Amino acid sequence: MANSKYEYVKDFEQPDPLLPNTWIVVRIDGRGFHKLSDFYKFEKPNDRRALDLMNAAAAEVMKDLPDLCIAYGVSDEFSFVFHPSSQLFERRSAKLVTTIVSTFTAHYIYLWATFFPSNPLKPPFLPSFDGRAVLYPSTRILRDYMSWRQVDCHINNLYNTTFWTMVLQGKMSNTEAEQELKGTVSSDKNEILFKRFGINYNNEEEIYKKGSVLYRQYALQEPKTIQTSTEDEAVVPEAQQSKTQQEKFKKLRRKAQVVIDHVDIIKDEFWERRPWIIS
Ligand code: ATP
Ligand code: ATP
Ligand code: MG
Ligand code: MG
Ligand code: MG
Ligand code: MG
Repeated sequence: MANSKYEYVKDFEQPDPLLPNTWIVVRIDGRGFHKLSDFYKFEKPNDRRALDLMNAAAAEVMKDLPDLCIAYGVSDEFSFVFHPSSQLFERRSAKLVTTIVSTFTAHYIYLWATFFPSNPLKPPFLPSFDGRAVLYPSTRILRDYMSWRQVDCHINNLYNTTFWTMVLQGKMSNTEAEQELKGTVSSDKNEILFKRFGINYNNEEEIYKKGSVLYRQYALQEPKTIQTSTEDEAVVPEAQQSKTQQEKFKKLRRKAQVVIDHVDIIKDEFWERRPWIIS
């Protein structure tokens, strides 16, 4: 029964469901953060406060959306991963992306003053983020996606660390440093840092070298109980789980603690030690 003669305009809306049983990655990225980081005087190459703020906002998103299994962040970007069984918003792409982006942005702005107490936000330099959803059809490819982001983090951080050391400690101009770094490989940059500035890149902070990975940690004292109960039943696609089962898992995930780690996620070890993350 139509409510009004205008009701037909609803038919112009295009459905945008994402394929079932595939990993959904929503990657968000800060808009114009190069300028924004200049305006608020982020420390170069890595402002720890800015990274902690990104992580704090991402942790709130994880707490808000129990369907997320893991998130990975570096610089002004974050990737949020939904389990293939997730039925959130009937897997509608725009709903998922806009909810992640706006929830993240809301927390980022809410928490800003905690991390930058003496640099209040000021229009027009207000933080905003774009986002997209990408589907990955197998766990192998999802892991390759995560590896891709972490390799990117490493490459950029080695470059930025060398560049800013040459500029800030070596008193070179931006152009001079850029020219000298053109065409160099990792070992060249490591050597510049070590020979000229006595910096061993390996000793740089893990958060800068590895980025940040967020996941749920279940009560440490009884990992077995939780693992077996989730493992046995979580293999059943969520659509086929009973409402009570679904509620039970949601509650477990909600209660779990979200931890922030700066570790290698390329090697198998991280995933083998925490099988619940992507099982
Ligand atoms: P776009 O809108 O296309 O994403 P952008 O200016 O945000 O443009 P990015 O490629 O996303 O460009 O790069 C983000 C930039 O933000 C970095 O190059 C760096 O200058 C700055 N930035 C982000 N996080 C930090 C941080 N923690 N410390 C210092 N600078 C940062
Ligand atoms: P969903 O997440 O599915 O959108 P919702 O609770 O936001 O759920 P909507 O259909 O979007 O549901 O309706 C928004 C509701 O918010 C309204 O029904 C009303 O209860 C409340 N609301 C929004 N704006 C106002 C307002 N200005 N004054 C009073 N109530 C408001
Ligand atoms: Mg961008
Ligand atoms: Mg950006
Ligand atoms: Mg970026
Ligand atoms: Mg609403």
